Amino acid sequence: MTESGAGEGRDFLAEELLCLDPVAGLLSSRLGHRTVMVPDAMIAGAEAVLAEEMGEAGAIVWYETGLAVGRRNMEGFAARVRREAGADWLEKRRSVIDQWLWPFRAVGWGVWSPDFSYEKRGLTVMEVDRSVIARAAGRVGRPVCHLFSGILAGAMSVLDRAPRRAAEIQCHSMGYDTCRFVVGEPDQVERAESWRREGAPAGDIIRRLGEQGSGNQEGSDAGQRG
Ligand SMILES: [Zn+2]
Repeated sequence: MTESGAGEGRDFLAEELLCLDPVAGLLSSRLGHRTVMVPDAMIAGAEAVLAEEMGEAGAIVWYETGLAVGRRNMEGFAARVRREAGADWLEKRRSVIDQWLWPFRAVGWGVWSPDFSYEKRGLTVMEVDRSVIARAAGRVGRPVCHLFSGILAGAMSVLDRAPRRAAEIQCHSMGYDTCRFVVGEPDQVERAESWRREGAPAGDIIRRLGEQGSGNQEGSDAGQRG
């Protein structure tokens, strides 16, 4: 269930986050998350049933679920970070995101790596290696990690204090090595989703979004239109 590793001096160990009391049958998280341990087959079954019964709407169920989880998760996290970082916590956006991500890795949801190259364009790109959902679903020829898209959108909406949307533009279940997501303003991500449906590769989608920007930019990027 878990993928352990090390980065920037921090070990990503499930034991660091989770505490199992086998006698009481209780799994608790040191950060107060509600936690349940499930087999991969259950994740695969839930994904397949929702897709079969609801088609595209199944993806919305996953996304909306993730949105609520991500929002609540970041609200709790941001409250803790604000206390520690004081007034300048928003300037530490990158390290906030890095810290926020490690529990996902610790519990075996995959190795989440943010790419901030397009931050000035209002975009955060996230790569997820070994997504637990995609690995459970197998190579089904469509993106399946809508739960993660929702989590990213919910969390970044709280962090950036602005509406954020996310889309998976490349998925292990479509035959790629890793899953990739873009998080940004809703209109940007809608464009990304439509290009993905047309078959555009993730690299092209990110590049085109980077060229176009959000259409609602502020600060140093304002006015840089093609
Ligand atoms: Zn995926």
